[in-house]
Amino acid sequence: MARPVRVRFAPSPTGPLHIGGVRTALYNYLFARQQGGTMILRIEDTDQTRFVPGAEDYIRRSLAWCGIELDESPWHGGPHAPYRQSERKATYQALARQLVERGQAYYAFDTPAELETMRQQLLASKAEHTGYGSQTRLQMKNSLSLPATEVQARLAAGEPYSVRLLVPAEGEVVFDDLVRGQVRVQANTIDDKVLLKSDGMPTYHLANVVDDHLMEISHVIRGEEWLPSAPLHVLLYRAFGWEATRPQFAHLPLLLKPEGEGKLSKRDGDRLGFSVFPLAWDGGAPAPETDETGPDDEPTPQPTGRSSGFREDGYLPAALLNFLALLGWHPTTDQELLSLPEMIAQFDLSRIHKAGARFDIQKAKWFNQQYIKQLSNEELAQQLTPELASRNLSLPPAKVVAIGGLMKERITFVKDIVTDGAFFFEPPTEYDAQVVAKKWNADLTGYLAALQSALATVPQLDEATARELTHQVAEQRGLKPGSLMQGLRVALTGAPGGPDLMGIIAVLGQAEVEKRLGLALAMVPLP
Ligand code: GLU
Repeated sequence: MARPVRVRFAPSPTGPLHIGGVRTALYNYLFARQQGGTMILRIEDTDQTRFVPGAEDYIRRSLAWCGIELDESPWHGGPHAPYRQSERKATYQALARQLVERGQAYYAFDTPAELETMRQQLLASKAEHTGYGSQTRLQMKNSLSLPATEVQARLAAGEPYSVRLLVPAEGEVVFDDLVRGQVRVQANTIDDKVLLKSDGMPTYHLANVVDDHLMEISHVIRGEEWLPSAPLHVLLYRAFGWEATRPQFAHLPLLLKPEGEGKLSKRDGDRLGFSVFPLAWDGGAPAPETDETGPDDEPTPQPTGRSSGFREDGYLPAALLNFLALLGWHPTTDQELLSLPEMIAQFDLSRIHKAGARFDIQKAKWFNQQYIKQLSNEELAQQLTPELASRNLSLPPAKVVAIGGLMKERITFVKDIVTDGAFFFEPPTEYDAQVVAKKWNADLTGYLAALQSALATVPQLDEATARELTHQVAEQRGLKPGSLMQGLRVALTGAPGGPDLMGIIAVLGQAEVEKRLGLALAMVPLP
């Protein structure tokens, strides 16, 4: 019987969740839902030096806002609780000890100063291997190099020790990655990595492998920065005797800078004016990555503690998910707009790209425009109401709905309605100079004045009555309505273009139109 699909998203609470992390969570989620599997979230918080208060809650809120649902997590519980690694220390300690007893790992007593001295000596002697491994381990202080009695004595005396994996001196580590294909690495290029630190805490590698095994994870879907760690993880599964149930790996391509070269960082967002986080973050500077727990490649310094987020910038969660889904994956068709159910139906791990995905914020904006267009006027009004409230603007609900309908096709973000549609909320203070120069003449001002008086003759100003009235008044004056409409628009909104003029008039209402016509006639002199 095929193994039940169980996937996990395993963030470390070291700061705000990077947008690449959201994509990783999304791919796990799509795969879980498609396969009728289980989506797990595990908090990897064993490195207390990098712990940032508030980060875990930020992760929870971010996923909830995006609509990425979890089945098991620290907040949902589940059959493999606890889902926070700091609460699972005893398990890691027991299993590390077991590995030592099975001869797959060993105690190491070297102090940091001794490790550094050894490294310097190896560097000076131009040794081929300068890490702690098969070439060097017997020159170090550990349970392989020291007599058994001394090891016992040191342990009995409570001397600090770490536990290191005994990496085989020879052979290859080979595994199939669902994205990368076959990966082959010489075992002797892998160090005897620390599994348990002298403070009794596990390293990322030990905790990650132990938990993936105990939580019965079937597929590890994670960022490419973890690919260099995967051979070590394969060795760990082997050392524990868990190879038969080792999860399959799928390492996702990097998110690249907009220019296409190098990994996307927060600085790119700062430089080019976009967020790389789902929600705003003001919880202090994220912890820098360290050699011990971060990816093996370059650390990403993140100097500032305060950042905007996609939510605050005005992105709809569905648009963000659609944008992220296509950064590294594409369905079999050219379809770009995919609802979450469509993404779930079409997602395919074997169609994930190997090459990095360029992070193009213009594309994210395009998706947002498309998703705004798909909202009903009522839904858009619901989003607009808080934007208005935050600016102390208020209009009757029906008018907010009408404004939504008029502006829907013209905006990238809901908040654009407040700026691009400012005329809905206040009379213009400036009138488009070009239109004034070309169209502001006695015919037009006469027409505007007549329209102002005629307003009182209609019981109610909806779009149809507005059209009828504006045309009727023109005809009564022997003028072509078409030649007057742009002048009327400028009188009411200040701008030469915008959404349907009759719709604007209906939203403004009789009293406001009358007032604005009066204002325009007073403020814009005839040439
Ligand atoms: N805790 C790691 C991270 O923060 C998880 C890596 C993995 O998924 O194995 O990205």
